Amino acid sequence: MLTVGIDIGGTKIAGGVVDAQGVIVEKLRVDTPSDTRHLATAVVDMVRHLAERHEIGAIGVAAAGFISKDRSTIIHAPNIAWRNEPLRDELESQLKMPVTIENDANAAGWAEFRFGAGEAYDDMVMLTLGTGVGGAVVLGGEMFRGGHGIGGELGHVRFERNGRLCGCGQRGCLEQYASGRALQREANDIADAGGIGAELAALRAERGTIHGEAVSRLVLAGDPGAIEALRRVATALGEACGGFQAVLDPEIFVIGGGVAQLGEDLLRPIRAAYEGAVPGFSDRPIATFEIAKLVNDAGIIGVADLAASAAEGV
Ligand code: BGC
Ligand code: ZN
Repeated sequence: MLTVGIDIGGTKIAGGVVDAQGVIVEKLRVDTPSDTRHLATAVVDMVRHLAERHEIGAIGVAAAGFISKDRSTIIHAPNIAWRNEPLRDELESQLKMPVTIENDANAAGWAEFRFGAGEAYDDMVMLTLGTGVGGAVVLGGEMFRGGHGIGGELGHVRFERNGRLCGCGQRGCLEQYASGRALQREANDIADAGGIGAELAALRAERGTIHGEAVSRLVLAGDPGAIEALRRVATALGEACGGFQAVLDPEIFVIGGGVAQLGEDLLRPIRAAYEGAVPGFSDRPIATFEIAKLVNDAGIIGVADLAASAAEGV
């Protein structure tokens, strides 16, 4: 069966027709409407376009928020203005096809587990670093969902007491220290403080603010300020992974999102911090760390695969 997977991101909505092997047959992208009321219309238009040319059996939609256990409603989204949004019913009534809503990180994690970096493992944790920090937990080959469908929100584990305010309403969440956005903030702070990273400081002076992509470029160019910003963010993530190891004991952590394009430059400081935070480190088996393989397509592929299973009643 062919399935449509739609990944609603902060700037782009990406959609694709996906086959049973997780291969994208056709892909489309549009800008995310700034008004969330127009999101459903944008998704409907995209699906209709794709359905004109392919025989579609089901639709999966990945969204950056807490999804209800029956996968119908976006209960809360820390970085988008969605509160108890009944997206599935709205889409099904217009599209007359079964729709499954899934958390974006769960979708990406599922794709990596089925077809990507986690393929050879049974127990995997995926972390996506973007505007937020997304988490997906696969235990014994099954996606962990929790009692209300919203388990595995690893970005909202408290990392610092009385820390920074988070979009979820709490303080000190990991997301405020280990996301792509946190990397940007650290880089700007370092540039403001002066001292390290001449290129970083020059860019800050020229542009007013330093964006994530520029930080990544400067890391690759060896700018010490950018490397320090990355070290801070990777250290926060690695320390948190030590705690996740204690609770979930995965065989592998897969790291995705825009920052993950830094590859080993990112993984090296993550591993160092992780090794300093895993209980019983020198005596116990530990996890490996890998960069996500499916990059920008993971959300589309994962949510399409989950929608296919839901439609087939698996
Ligand atoms: C949200 C998650 C989402 C992640 C990545 C977090 O702020 O709580 O649901 O998966 O951002 O988009
Ligand atoms: Zn939070």
